[in-house]
Amino acid sequence: MAKYEEERTEDVSSLLNPWIRELVPYSSARSEFSGKADVLLDANESWVGGNDGVNRYPDPLCRELRKALEEKLGLPYEMTAIGNGSDEIIDMLIRMFCAPGKDSVMIERPTYGTYSVFARTSCVDVVDVPLTPSLDLDEEAVMRAIAEKKPRIVFICTPNNPTGRVYPLDAVERIAAANPGITAVDEAYGDFAENFHSAVNLIAANPRVVVLRTLSKAFAAAGARIGVLVADPVIQRTFMKAKPPYNVPLLSQKAGLAAVNDYENVKRRVEETRRRRKDFASFLSSLPFVREVFPSEANFVLFRTGDAAALYTCLLEKGIVVRNRSSDPMLENTLRVTIGSEEEMEKLREALCGWRE
Ligand SMILES: *Cc1c(COP(=O)(O)O)cnc(C)c1O
Repeated sequence: MAKYEEERTEDVSSLLNPWIRELVPYSSARSEFSGKADVLLDANESWVGGNDGVNRYPDPLCRELRKALEEKLGLPYEMTAIGNGSDEIIDMLIRMFCAPGKDSVMIERPTYGTYSVFARTSCVDVVDVPLTPSLDLDEEAVMRAIAEKKPRIVFICTPNNPTGRVYPLDAVERIAAANPGITAVDEAYGDFAENFHSAVNLIAANPRVVVLRTLSKAFAAAGARIGVLVADPVIQRTFMKAKPPYNVPLLSQKAGLAAVNDYENVKRRVEETRRRRKDFASFLSSLPFVREVFPSEANFVLFRTGDAAALYTCLLEKGIVVRNRSSDPMLENTLRVTIGSEEEMEKLREALCGWRE
């Protein structure tokens, strides 16, 4: 880490909103004293114990969880911060780097919906660059939009939700190099991709790159709400300063720690999910009413059919809920199916076999 600090190529603090850069953080009891003591009478907590220790405030820095992320996943401690889900990190990045009523962020549609919702709740514009007709990143169009619109944050979701497509890391690298603002790479589904090249490796050479990870998908902890920001330590420290002091609940930190420490099993289950994804995709291709199966590197498969709304309703009547993505641009008549357990997939296959257009 010392090496990283020495080799830093650029000071990113000038990109921060000035009121964020100059923010004096709230000083919580647990940030003023974070050691071990017998008698803790500093935080106005209740003396009533039991109940998993929730009478105490959680660690504002999520230190144990971040140490585990360093040990198991190789994410440097000084470069990680934990959000209440990636959702909180997306919201915080917009508040850290974009001036309300003035700045914009960029997305490549169709993609995950929360980037634009959080932008709009902060009165930040959304520049929308469509994917190519084959649902790849349109690098030239992205470059042009960066030059013209000067977005403060370019969000890139890879593997992309809802298409399942991985964008080549060198394309992400070129975009981030050309982008004078922040390039936020959302790798929520990266664990499921084969031979995945993470954008974490770009940060040392380009500290304007930030990466979002989550324990909600491969780590099977969506209910714990643990999102991970991996970023240059200047950005990491600013996030820590600007976030709500106790943003990650105590029980969530415990659940997240258990999930990360179970990394061997996580990898085994990811293998299983990949196998099932492959089998399900070839099953879909064999069905007469399936027009197109989009190759996926995530834990879901998107496919096109003749009448997605009718098929959706038919599945629902059999108690199976999938996602109708047909209202997204370029995704007419598509359904997105999460890879479930073997039993769930068998029920789905049966239902699909009975469908006639
Ligand atoms: C599911 C998902 C996330 C995870 O969000 P959390 O708030 O961490 O649960 C992030 N990005 C994308 C693209 C997703 O699909």
